[in-house]
Amino acid sequence: MTDAEIRSLFPELMNERDGRRMVYLDSAATSQRPSEVIEAVGSFYANDNANPHRGTYLEAEKATEVYEEARNRTASFIGAESRDVIFTRNTSEAMNLLAYTWGAENVGAGDRVVITIMEHHSNLLPWQRLCRMKGAELVYLYLNDSFEITDSEIEEKINADTKLVAFTHVSNVLGVMPPVGKIISRAKETGAVTVMDCAQSVPHMKVDVNELGADFIAFSGHKMFAPFGIGALWGRDELLESMPPFLSGGDMIEYVREQDATWAPLPQKFEAGTQDPGAAAGLLAAISFMERIGMDVIAQRERDVYDYALSRLSELDHVEVYGPADRERFGAIPFNVKDVHPHDTATVLSADRVCVRAGHHCAQPLLKSMGLNSCCRISFSVYNSREDVDLLCDSLKKVRGRLGL
Ligand code: PLP
Repeated sequence: MTDAEIRSLFPELMNERDGRRMVYLDSAATSQRPSEVIEAVGSFYANDNANPHRGTYLEAEKATEVYEEARNRTASFIGAESRDVIFTRNTSEAMNLLAYTWGAENVGAGDRVVITIMEHHSNLLPWQRLCRMKGAELVYLYLNDSFEITDSEIEEKINADTKLVAFTHVSNVLGVMPPVGKIISRAKETGAVTVMDCAQSVPHMKVDVNELGADFIAFSGHKMFAPFGIGALWGRDELLESMPPFLSGGDMIEYVREQDATWAPLPQKFEAGTQDPGAAAGLLAAISFMERIGMDVIAQRERDVYDYALSRLSELDHVEVYGPADRERFGAIPFNVKDVHPHDTATVLSADRVCVRAGHHCAQPLLKSMGLNSCCRISFSVYNSREDVDLLCDSLKKVRGRLGL
């Protein structure tokens, strides 16, 4: 498929305003949606609308079917069993679920929870709050000057007191991967449970839970072409079985008596209340879309644009790019225009319809460790092209002049 053909699948990218198309470079925040996802959501409400898991009439059964088919496809997409895939609203909710169930039951005073300094606040704050509640210690794996987590950092910090290690698969700011295999094997040696934040990997590369070897992974549908409001937590069956419910209410019970209750089997135990089958229909369509395009094609297109962007940005001497120059990176590139506040840069770019994110990217401890308060970030998806990068660079060249520098 050509760049133009792929772009044409995404209605928002075809909208012209003031005669100009949008150059969308903020897919790490949320992706654009292809027509088939938007249509799948509309079709659910037009044809199958009912509350899943409740009624016995045709529409209710169809709603249940769509919802469970979305779960089956999500499971097979990541090499998992359906009963071990729990739908959540997003990655943040998945991490909170883990902190307040597995964490609350298994982390105590004097224990350690280890995370990396690269974490998005979603994979930091639930653990920070848990540790404060329990009198446990939140310990960070730091990056060295080459943006790497060294072996000694892993061996020293993940010790016998460590109950849980939670870490991102791909940093939403730097685009780097931590040494996943080393962290997981060290955690296994010390008996700690591992949680991976796959919000920035599942949309961009083939992720198989069996190959990864972590105990839990979480990701958000809205970053992988699906609607807002649906994400997934996968966990090892025996761990999910051992955990208490997170939220309670309708649909997650086996039997309720006046003073106590028993829980539904997996995955319903963790899905209290009416779920979002419309979003599930969209997630199902999004996964079908990704499988049809092919994860290898998605990864290869993004690799090309990423490497092209790094090299074009390095030609602009007023632009400072952060992160390692010599390692494979994915998805996101952080930068600043010298002497310009990132919000000003983003505002000038937006006048040219170039959409980038500016701020702390929900990773304040990481930015602080880099000596920054904020920066700009570009991030990619399958619909981006070298032409997008050229338009970004043309616009970046104007930033300082527009601000009178
Ligand atoms: N983790 C990472 C690495 C992210 O990039 C994000 C969102 O940007 C999240 C977690 C949180 O995702 P959500 O807001 O969908 O919960």
